[in-house]
Amino acid sequence: MGNMQINITKCLEKKAKPATEGIAFGRNFTDHMFIADYTEGQGWHDHRIVPYQPISLDPSAIIFHYGQTVFEGLKAYKSEDGTVRLFRPEENFRRMNESCDRLCMPAIDEEQALEALKALIEMERDWVPSAEGTSLYIRPYMIATEPHLGVAPSLEYKFMIVLSPVGSYYKGGVAPVKILVENEYVRAVAGGTGAAKTAGNYAASLKAQQVAEGMGYAQVLWLDGVEKKYIEEVGSMNVFFKIGGEVITPALNGSILGGITRKSILEMLRAWDVPVTERRISMQELVEAQKDGRLEEAFGTGTAAVISPIGEFSWKGETFSVKDGEAGELSLKLYDELTGIQTGKKDDPFGWVTVIEEKATVKQ
Ligand SMILES: *Cc1c(COP(=O)(O)O)cnc(C)c1O
Repeated sequence: MGNMQINITKCLEKKAKPATEGIAFGRNFTDHMFIADYTEGQGWHDHRIVPYQPISLDPSAIIFHYGQTVFEGLKAYKSEDGTVRLFRPEENFRRMNESCDRLCMPAIDEEQALEALKALIEMERDWVPSAEGTSLYIRPYMIATEPHLGVAPSLEYKFMIVLSPVGSYYKGGVAPVKILVENEYVRAVAGGTGAAKTAGNYAASLKAQQVAEGMGYAQVLWLDGVEKKYIEEVGSMNVFFKIGGEVITPALNGSILGGITRKSILEMLRAWDVPVTERRISMQELVEAQKDGRLEEAFGTGTAAVISPIGEFSWKGETFSVKDGEAGELSLKLYDELTGIQTGKKDDPFGWVTVIEEKATVKQ
């Protein structure tokens, strides 16, 4: 991003903050946003924090036609002592650059992106909700802005960060969900863009999600795009199974998104000496384990829900329950530990949390 000087324009009037009770995900935005522009030959320039507002783009901007865009998702938490914390933000900017590489988009300076995020959150500190389970959702993203109808990487981009206060994912405790194993549509294939956080993957997933919801399922479990035999992920979460005392998650194979929650859970389980393997796992193997009574737990992992226990799955018209539909012991323990670290209620033995200092304190 070159030498970063952030220009700040404050909003004239602050918005009323929504009540966090029952707040819908991703529909409320804070007073300010961060923007930087990229021009080929010049690099990143005009880093600025401005009032949250619509942006103006040329109708022929490449983003509208060929979907050259990537995004990230992470959260800021307010702890009981009022400090604001970020969970492994450097991992998000590292992954964003990996996504950018796959989409032929320019890299951001990861350290400067984190500085920009901290500056923005510092200004929006009052927007970080403090009630149990609430957080400030952070959406960094990049779009291709060059007006050009030719299929080629854009020569101009915008990198932006918007913030959205979000409520508790779970109202009344961590509740297991029912999932539908998807046998027709696929999310991604090896060699495609499945490992990148890019818009097209989500547009392509809507159809299956709509069908599953219509049938009463919360999420889709995606299988590999070639044989539809091996388990990939669930909705926009990675997936874990506990079978006969061992925790198994599909190995990152190029079509699965490498979640930061996934990575953190693997690191926690290894620190706790829980046997854990990243490998290929087929639906057949899962069903056999369920029938033999060896399937102890199943759960999805991601920034939004942290841990989402799976109580039941349906495959080719047959329904299988996990733990009689109850949330498993390990799922709940992981949820408590991880959310405890994120919110500052528990120690952070892994050094995962970045505390955002109050500027006034820093200056003294
Ligand atoms: C973001 C995402 C995840 C989870 O990643 P986290 O970093 O843990 O939030 C998993 N799968 C898909 C498809 C995703 O987009």
